[in-house]
Amino acid sequence: MTTTTSRSSRFKRICVFCGSSTGNKTTDRDAAIDLAQHLVWRDIDLVYGGGSIGLMGLVSQAVYHGGRHRVACMPLMLMLGAWQVSGDTWGEVSPVADMHQRKAEMATHSDAFIALPGGYGTLEELLEVITWAQLGIHRKPVELVNVDGYYDSLLAFIEQAVEEGFISPSAGCIIVSAPTPKELMDKLEDYVPYYDRVASGLKWESASS
Ligand code: AMP
Repeated sequence: MTTTTSRSSRFKRICVFCGSSTGNKTTDRDAAIDLAQHLVWRDIDLVYGGGSIGLMGLVSQAVYHGGRHRVACMPLMLMLGAWQVSGDTWGEVSPVADMHQRKAEMATHSDAFIALPGGYGTLEELLEVITWAQLGIHRKPVELVNVDGYYDSLLAFIEQAVEEGFISPSAGCIIVSAPTPKELMDKLEDYVPYYDRVASGLKWESASS
């Protein structure tokens, strides 16, 4: 775990996508808690899927212990009928009708998105906010904590899709990734929105590194 001094951020609320499972490596759990502590140190509140299970629960708990606010975007279906699916719902609850509305709600409440390791749900949330960035629906950073290279194959796939002409070189650089929460949070502060990068003619290689 990294130790650092408090430093406030240009971002006030960040949405974290991550596993509803903890995975089986301690490095993922450590990264989840580490990311939460970086949010706390920078006075950033958490927006998240609302469950108390998996990496989600670890992030939420650590943000709470650090004294920051949590906004839990929970579909009614998960809140009412299925405690066993999500565990407790912690923080200020923003109830939503369904999973689709939940993503829109998470996006509305946050200034940036960060994904930790996770499964289908995490991937789906991540890819949707990337697509929205590509379409200009938002100008918020989309970041990835690539713990122990967990997302190397996704990043390689994106490179391949750029090479084969399915993703433009500029859109191929929407995701900003770093191996640790600290490096990622430092990159976040220097973030230039995708559309501003296109407009200013910035070189993608340097802007995304
Ligand atoms: P997964 O990566 O498949 O574990 O899904 C995790 C992501 O999907 C989280 O970022 C949540 O927003 C959402 N999600 C999936 N399962 C749940 C659940 N049981 N309770 C709350 N949110 C969930």
